[in-house]
Amino acid sequence: MSLIVQKFGGSSVANAERVMNVASIVTDTFSKGNDVVVVVSAQGDTTDDLIEKANEINPKASKREQDMLLAAGEQISISLLAMAIEKLGFHAVSLLGWQAGFETSSAHTSARIKRVDASRIKRELDKKNIVIVAGFQGLSKYGDITTLGRGGSDTSAVAIAAAMHADLCQIFTDVEGVYTADPRKVPNARKLKEISYDEMLELATLGAQVLNNRSVEMAKKYNIELEVLSSMTKAPGTIVKEKSKMEKMLISGVAKDTEVARISVTGIPNLPGLAFKMFSKLSAKDINVDIILQSIGHDGKKDITFTVAKSRGEEAVECLKDYMENIGAAEILYDDKVAKISIVGAGMESHAGVATKMFEALYDAQINIQMISTSEIKVSVLIDVADADKAVSAIHAKFFD
Ligand code: ADP
Ligand code: ASP
Ligand code: MG
Repeated sequence: MSLIVQKFGGSSVANAERVMNVASIVTDTFSKGNDVVVVVSAQGDTTDDLIEKANEINPKASKREQDMLLAAGEQISISLLAMAIEKLGFHAVSLLGWQAGFETSSAHTSARIKRVDASRIKRELDKKNIVIVAGFQGLSKYGDITTLGRGGSDTSAVAIAAAMHADLCQIFTDVEGVYTADPRKVPNARKLKEISYDEMLELATLGAQVLNNRSVEMAKKYNIELEVLSSMTKAPGTIVKEKSKMEKMLISGVAKDTEVARISVTGIPNLPGLAFKMFSKLSAKDINVDIILQSIGHDGKKDITFTVAKSRGEEAVECLKDYMENIGAAEILYDDKVAKISIVGAGMESHAGVATKMFEALYDAQINIQMISTSEIKVSVLIDVADADKAVSAIHAKFFD
């Protein structure tokens, strides 16, 4: 007998028919003699709809109240799934995050899981229940409901798998696995049989939403093998694990992130310490900076350009304004009509010319590059958002066709 954690995303439980479909997958697994813990997300677009409802009333609502609202989505789907399982003649119990033992930080709307006290889940499994847990939520030490950030149910599933030493953690979604690019945007994207934690972590962080990046981080830390597969077909999925013995591919995927903004501060006096002070202002506000570009100084002045998450963009500009005026910088430019396109692959560590090939694809498609950043296993470029899908297709075709 094995302990299996199965996670189903929003589209997998979007309506009554889909909920019944999930109930049959879960009960099949249980009937084979396994203990099953199921993690579910809110149905379909429920989370987006709840955010809209909040914005209608107060777009600046406190994060505590946002969490209280957003957590409601998952409460609906866990109870409906439990009812569906009962209908098939099995015993199920649904648990909210706090009932399932999720203790988190108190950073509302992006809380981190500190610990999962799985004793209640264990008791329910001992009673031969199928246990259904609300993803995406937990409880802070102050006794308040928290949520883990968008896509956080993946992380809830991996956290349970880690806490309970599960034998398998399956992430069911609306595509058949992890592909070389978003299969909805690039029709000839290929499904990967396997991918390493490190490559998956980069892809997820750089915009491939199929897995939440924190879930991959946690899977790597606790060595939890993940299987990403479809809840609609029975096709084999993608295995995410420590070492992938993938066919010799230069790159494993292309990702797109449109949640970025570019900020340029021009005419900064070319003196030591100013970059330090500027970025300190941002880090004091917990604003992460990604790609950074500094021009060669001329006439005693220099320009610094960097990217931040679009959701923090305006705040970043606000926070720099006074300081930049004080030191006599010329202006702050802001542009959120940009996208970051990245290629990821462990193969590029040992092969020259991978970045060049990416740049050639962009040149062929007549797409201008605004910024570039690289690491051992990725290359990212910042481009005009209007070119984003065209860029992904052109780069994908260059590497995979
Ligand atoms: P869920 O609701 O199951 O959590 P998500 O919408 O969060 O599902 O993630 C699945 C989606 O991720 C797919 O529908 C697909 O469009 C998108 N996606 C982006 N990049 C990739 C990729 N490289 N491989 C597979 N899917 C991807
Ligand atoms: N329902 C949450 C969201 O839409 C969590 C998740 O789907 O993983 O972000
Ligand atoms: Mg998701």
